[in-house]
Amino acid sequence: MTDTTLNFLELPRVDPAKLSVEERVSSYREIYGTYVPKEASLQASRCLACGNPFCEWKCPVHNFIPNWLKLLEEGRLFEAAELSHRTNSLPEVCGRICPQDRLCEGACTLNEQFGAVSIGSIEKYITDEALKAGWRPDLSEVKPTGRRVAIVGAGPAGLGCADILVRNGVSAIVYDRHPRIGGLLTFGIPPFKLEKSVVETRREILEGMGVEFRLGVDVGRDIGFDELVASHDAVFMGTGTYRAVEGGFPGERLPGVHPALGYLISNINQQLGLASAEDWVDLRGKRVVVLGGGDTAMDCNRTALRQGAASVTCTYRRAEAELQGSRRDYKNSVEEGVQFVFNRQPLEIVGDGRVEGVRVAQTRLGSAMRRGRRVVEVVPGTDEILPADAVVIAFGFEASPPAWCAEHGIELHADGRIKVSTSTPFQTTHPRVFAGGDMVRGSDLVVTAVFEGREAARGILISLGLHEITPA
Ligand code: FAD
Ligand code: SF4
Repeated sequence: MTDTTLNFLELPRVDPAKLSVEERVSSYREIYGTYVPKEASLQASRCLACGNPFCEWKCPVHNFIPNWLKLLEEGRLFEAAELSHRTNSLPEVCGRICPQDRLCEGACTLNEQFGAVSIGSIEKYITDEALKAGWRPDLSEVKPTGRRVAIVGAGPAGLGCADILVRNGVSAIVYDRHPRIGGLLTFGIPPFKLEKSVVETRREILEGMGVEFRLGVDVGRDIGFDELVASHDAVFMGTGTYRAVEGGFPGERLPGVHPALGYLISNINQQLGLASAEDWVDLRGKRVVVLGGGDTAMDCNRTALRQGAASVTCTYRRAEAELQGSRRDYKNSVEEGVQFVFNRQPLEIVGDGRVEGVRVAQTRLGSAMRRGRRVVEVVPGTDEILPADAVVIAFGFEASPPAWCAEHGIELHADGRIKVSTSTPFQTTHPRVFAGGDMVRGSDLVVTAVFEGREAARGILISLGLHEITPA
């Protein structure tokens, strides 16, 4: 076989084609295309196969990246898919929406001088193409243990947990209040980043592996948490974090002001045919101001553009360099026409019975530090009004622990996140209840939620005295 170790010298990084801006803003389709087989294999061949692969260390689930790149390069697609699933329950999702620039690709040895290997696009390619060609996880060696675990929440954490449990012969019954699986993957993240059919395909795979979904069931309302604890060997909680952070300034309750997640979900429901017309927040023709600079703000910006907003202005209280969300989504927002206003603090949403604008002031960095960053100060006398017909508030999320925690002796941190053990992974202070994902670490990423769900499943196996058979 030819030695391809120095391929990176000849072969530049090439990403799959992106839709033109006009095509993007006129539909909700995913904006990135996919490789043809030859391109995928050539791009995979750019990997140096580093002895100590930094990409693998930086990936929260420690994907065996150089190994599956090699398998793909050699045309061994099914083996690449099998290996990719050994560490990740949702590789096709992570390939699409992980912030690779600060994770695996940011750590790639080639990144600075030659352009990182396009790990995310290749990860997506491997699973998409393997599934299309008929590959399915092989559970033929799995022996049922007769044990049953209830999982509350069909988001990435719950799905990661279910994946590992069924691979170890434990029945996984997943409850979710929504009619579809995915948590924020379905009811949060817009389709131009992740089409809903991708999540539905994953549902078929998981059901084929034996995972049972009970959807449209709100635990605590339709079925008691105590009932789940009593009728299962263990319970995993992956209910996310949903309390929106408020601005605490006047005008937040004016008609025309929308919390980010409610806005995004209303549009997704409209796309999926799940919403009644009056629940749909349609910003067509409006001057929209989005407050915030994270991933959720970028998703709101780009949704408003696709709805046909007259203009979309996004304000952030820090500088461009301090944006905390994905650089890729910021860049896409700029390309698609969002106007950014940096170093502005919102002080008030103004309007007479309805939103008319946002009063903002300029900011500068103070000397005091908070959470490792210099605090932001308002510069006196710099107020101005940004005209708006609609305002979307995207300041992030705080923990929203379920009411049943207190009743079951499940302890919380002061900020409402669930406390978990380090000795038995992700065990709460109730010995038969485990937790993971955003409700444990705070609002974060899909890949970290998947990791915690999988680790919690390992904790459950240990607590049940079962040996984990697959994957390593
Ligand atoms: P969730 O995905 O929130 O799932 C929790 C599930 O629990 C939900 O389905 C909910 O219905 C269910 N549930 C809660 N309570 C109950 C109950 N009582 N009974 C039944 N069901 C219940 N991450 C990235 O990596 N890349 C991105 O590009 C990205 N973009 C994002 C964009 C937005 C708008 C948002 C809000 C988040 C984004 N994230 C992104 C973060 C990512 O989506 C989350 O970190 C991840 O989904 C957390 O997974 P989880 O399983 O912990 O919780
Ligand atoms: Fe990179 Fe995310 Fe894939 Fe890990 S899961 S290899 S961080 S894209």
